[in-house]
Amino acid sequence: MDDRVVLVTGGARGIGAGIAKAFADAGARVMVADIGIQATGVTTSTWRYALANEDDVGDLQASSSNIEATHVDVTSSASCEAAVAATVDRFGGIDVLVNNAGVIDSGAFDDIDEATWDRIFQVNCKGIFLMTRAALPSLKASSQKESSNAAIINTASIAGKQGHANLSAYCGSKFAAIGITQSLAAELAPQNIRVNAICPGIVGTAMWHDHLRPTNAVTPEQKEADLALAMRERIPLGRPQSIEDMGQAALYLATAPNITGVALSVAGGLQMQ
Ligand code: NAD
Repeated sequence: MDDRVVLVTGGARGIGAGIAKAFADAGARVMVADIGIQATGVTTSTWRYALANEDDVGDLQASSSNIEATHVDVTSSASCEAAVAATVDRFGGIDVLVNNAGVIDSGAFDDIDEATWDRIFQVNCKGIFLMTRAALPSLKASSQKESSNAAIINTASIAGKQGHANLSAYCGSKFAAIGITQSLAAELAPQNIRVNAICPGIVGTAMWHDHLRPTNAVTPEQKEADLALAMRERIPLGRPQSIEDMGQAALYLATAPNITGVALSVAGGLQMQ
């Protein structure tokens, strides 16, 4: 990955941070773009659970000198364009775009309010459209380079391959993310830009600890142990997945020159297809 430039949305913490760190450790120059990174005139977005903040991105940047950060709200076209411009200004281009930002909410279908439905689709689907559209000129320029390996990686989910009760908006948005991935893969293949998705299984991030399965555990280690115990019987390999697993998968998809249009489950066998 030496000298390749990677832009990761929703990269301040959780799976996005794991992906950013994997690329940085492999020698890439990484721009993390997240709604939790402050920008002038932008107020912090609220959701069912707290989104990322400056401390999260500070911890991530402390782990590697190859990681820089910028604000983005992937639901805003202007904001996506600004994040792309900041990346190009800083690093001179973009070779890999990782559309990872996402939000979740759960509950009975007839209890979902319209604003929640819209926000989930705006972040998880429209965010892929707006961010990819903004980055495409840079990715096309990258694909013209000698030994080019331009790529887009979308973080979908195993919830994009199998529906679940009380998760209709989230599952719908992730099925759509896989559909967008396949369509773009076909469309951009003639231009030598590969498009793939990662489908994480169960990763102990805010989505699980603060929303899907809130626990009384306090430290990150206690939360991990608590989740690991709950998942021992449920996941064939007997353990939850880690943000490092997702980083490894993203690195693989960014470097495998003949793979496009796949939705790679990284789920310990929880989803097989
Ligand atoms: P997370 O909440 O820790 O990370 C999501 C990140 O996206 C946060 O940093 C948040 O600030 C950012 N974000 C939210 N809205 C944004 C917006 N409008 N613009 C820019 N950034 C925004 O949760 P995570 O588990 O790390 O989720 C990352 C991705 O992985 C999501 O797409 C999620 O749907 C997917 N996923 C997670 C799991 C899991 O088990 N945790 C499983 C399958 C898929």
